[in-house]
Amino acid sequence: MSARLPALFLGHGNPLNALRVNPWTRAWSALGAALPRPRAVLSVSAHWYVPGSAVTAMATPRTIHDFGGFPRELYEVRYPAPGAPALAARVQQLLAPLGVLADHSWGLDHGSWSVLRHLFPQADVPIVQLSIDETRPPAFHHELGVRLRPLRDEGVLILGSGDVVHNLHAYAWGAHAQEPYDWALRFEAAVRARLEAGEHAALIDYGALGNDALLSVPTPEHYLPLLYVLGASLPGEPVMFPAQGMDGGSVSMLAVQFG
Ligand code: ZN
Repeated sequence: MSARLPALFLGHGNPLNALRVNPWTRAWSALGAALPRPRAVLSVSAHWYVPGSAVTAMATPRTIHDFGGFPRELYEVRYPAPGAPALAARVQQLLAPLGVLADHSWGLDHGSWSVLRHLFPQADVPIVQLSIDETRPPAFHHELGVRLRPLRDEGVLILGSGDVVHNLHAYAWGAHAQEPYDWALRFEAAVRARLEAGEHAALIDYGALGNDALLSVPTPEHYLPLLYVLGASLPGEPVMFPAQGMDGGSVSMLAVQFG
């Protein structure tokens, strides 16, 4: 039996982080170097937010460039990590009786590869993605995380990729610096405090944070990967924040690590 792997949430932020070297990407690189080497990664990305549950089951997932208006260099990135059909089957088994489709058409979206490129630059760790079922409430996603927890003892790194705060209407796309918005800082601080206190129910019911939640999580897909990672944590397991900061005023780069 290999060492238990962490459950890790990364705020991926701007797709260009795939190409950049900055404090966040340096933190991701350091994590990749410090972690026990995973047998495989199960990635839950904000960018596979669809009706229904599916798991990538192909042996060689393609690199998906699921964004528009970025420099050519970003479209030329390939992340040729292999898939892991056996892990896909194990995920289906763990989540049964929930029907999880074995998918052969998706691949690796930028929620996965923009961070994995820094975590595992050799692209030699097999990756499986699990979709986020957009028709389900937050508690469902937390519960799936709980059911996936055994994977951590099977050499699998559970990776959630999103952003605790993700408001692109307020995001400063230009070169000018934008101070973080008060509502973004308040929401992120509330999430951190609840993570430190192990308050799962409050993190599932994030909408109770009112206007700060409406502005920070205008749509749920970037927040929900955190609930998978939270669900996969052990009772009382300490939490660490290996990367932090706000980008463009309204995108949280907070990383959350259990184990
Ligand atoms: Zn994103």
